Amino acid sequence: MMPSSATVGSAPGTDSPAEPRVEPAPAIELRGVSKAYGTAGTALLALDRVDLAVAPGEFVCLVGASGCGKSTLLNLVAGLDRPNAGRVSSLGRSALMFQEAALFPWLTVAANVELALRFRGVGRADRRRRGAELLDLVTLGEFATKRPHELSGGMRQRVALARALAQDAEVLLMDEPFGALDAMTRDLLHDELEALWAHAGKTVLFVTHNVREAVRLGDRVVLLSSRPGRVAAEFDIALARPRRIDTAPVAELAATITDRLREEVRRHARDDHA
Ligand code: ADP
Ligand code: MG
Repeated sequence: MMPSSATVGSAPGTDSPAEPRVEPAPAIELRGVSKAYGTAGTALLALDRVDLAVAPGEFVCLVGASGCGKSTLLNLVAGLDRPNAGRVSSLGRSALMFQEAALFPWLTVAANVELALRFRGVGRADRRRRGAELLDLVTLGEFATKRPHELSGGMRQRVALARALAQDAEVLLMDEPFGALDAMTRDLLHDELEALWAHAGKTVLFVTHNVREAVRLGDRVVLLSSRPGRVAAEFDIALARPRRIDTAPVAELAATITDRLREEVRRHARDDHA
């Protein structure tokens, strides 16, 4: 099936007549990307001919049922794994963030962030200064000398975000980074991430199975079908920022996308039993 694209959240009939749009080179591009795990005979197809392009500075959320290949796709973009077919390209370096902060427990908060700067060859004095700036940016300036176990889950993810920003990568790849947080903490981090993204102009590819979170954050929401993952639909999210997850427009768009996702899951279940 062809991927469908819909613009949701803007009033119908307000589109200006077609103007030639100059498309910049994408920051992330996948063309005909397939990925199988295992060996021939027992191979499991995780991604099937995925096409996706993310523009520089764009915030794209990737949603889909558990096991549909979201993490696989992100790992391919990060260069942690290679596709069996197709081409993956990314403009510049990417920084990764996962559900678990994976901080070094024996290092202080500041040292965890500074380590990322050190890997980039930043000198000691600049590491101190930039590390402190980044911790202020994620509102953790007062916790610089704490160890990870002294922090809440939300605070640890803030450190992970500061560490990702310390890598000064053009592309931020986030794999369900707030999936383990309570709703209140997650909402706060959405606000902070949106502000940081708007300020820093990074390209973000954000994976989540939470459709509301995707609508809250994304310029565009890309829906992957159930295994093997393919781009089933794309939704441009034209809601004004800053957004709030608990507002009616976000909930309504999320419901539309969730209906589409349910269709995909049902189709998958039917195919499995055919
Ligand atoms: P998602 O992140 O959407 O939940 P994944 O990308 O983790 O999905 O996984 C997609 C499919 O590939 C799943 O069926 C999963 O079991 C399988 N898979 C993922 N990683 C591996 C691996 N390293 N070896 C074998 N199978 C894997
Ligand atoms: Mg995953």
